[in-house]
Amino acid sequence: MKWRDYRKSDNVDDRRGMSGTGKAVLGGGGIIGIIAFLLITFGGEQGQQIGNVINQMQPAQQETTVEGAKELTPEQKEIGDFANAVFAMTEDTWTKIFQEENLGEYQKPEMVLFTGGVETACGSATSASGPFYCPGDNKVYMDLDFFEELKTRFGAKGGDFAIAYVIAHEVGHHVQTVLGTSAQVRKKQQSLSEEDANKLSVCQELQADFYAGLWAKYNQDRIEVGDLEEAIDAAHAVGDDAIQTKMQGHVQPEKFTHGTSAQRKKWFTRGFQTGDFKQHNTFAEEL
Ligand SMILES: [Zn+2]
Repeated sequence: MKWRDYRKSDNVDDRRGMSGTGKAVLGGGGIIGIIAFLLITFGGEQGQQIGNVINQMQPAQQETTVEGAKELTPEQKEIGDFANAVFAMTEDTWTKIFQEENLGEYQKPEMVLFTGGVETACGSATSASGPFYCPGDNKVYMDLDFFEELKTRFGAKGGDFAIAYVIAHEVGHHVQTVLGTSAQVRKKQQSLSEEDANKLSVCQELQADFYAGLWAKYNQDRIEVGDLEEAIDAAHAVGDDAIQTKMQGHVQPEKFTHGTSAQRKKWFTRGFQTGDFKQHNTFAEEL
């Protein structure tokens, strides 16, 4: 993806390298690391719950309190710049879409880059939570070291564009919050069985994937060969069926909260192919 000449966002709070009060979870890897990769786009409470399960599953890890400021490595600076440029692209894309669709002025979210642990309006989180959006403070939280580790430890998959896809997906949850979709879903879920409530969550997640595809379409002149495949691979890898198979060896469709690999890939691709915000009604098609 061509991003170096793109403007920088004013709404990125880079807390990496700052002295932290949170607990950093170190160690891990192996199957746990792979599961962590599959959890990239889990986000929100779901991600935290599963992150906690992972913490419990892994007795070998150490907990260390982060103390004192650290100098960022050139690689860390680079990935921060990249994430910032992608975030700026989401700001410009959604400002444009809100204008085109007469949705009022786009209220931009903030993105917090952190290492180890972070306090949010949705509670405290660690790297194991995976990236997530907190509607309570309108912030996207990203631990970029997590992605760096993925790249070095798990090879080529999970490249730069996969990170961009994850950022665009989390910003999609912000759009849902601004437009009231998230509140509507939460309200409806209160009167539903767990299984039916999960079906609504799936539609909400698929819509965020659609929004990520839409973002890619609006920035297609910056996309290079292989980028889309990376995003589609990532969308595919985080399907509930793929994750359940990895974690428990079998699939329980009634427990799906994010959609199958095929559904996630389908909606990301739909967003990219149509470039049409009005096609976003995953609820009408998938419920
Ligand atoms: Zn999500």
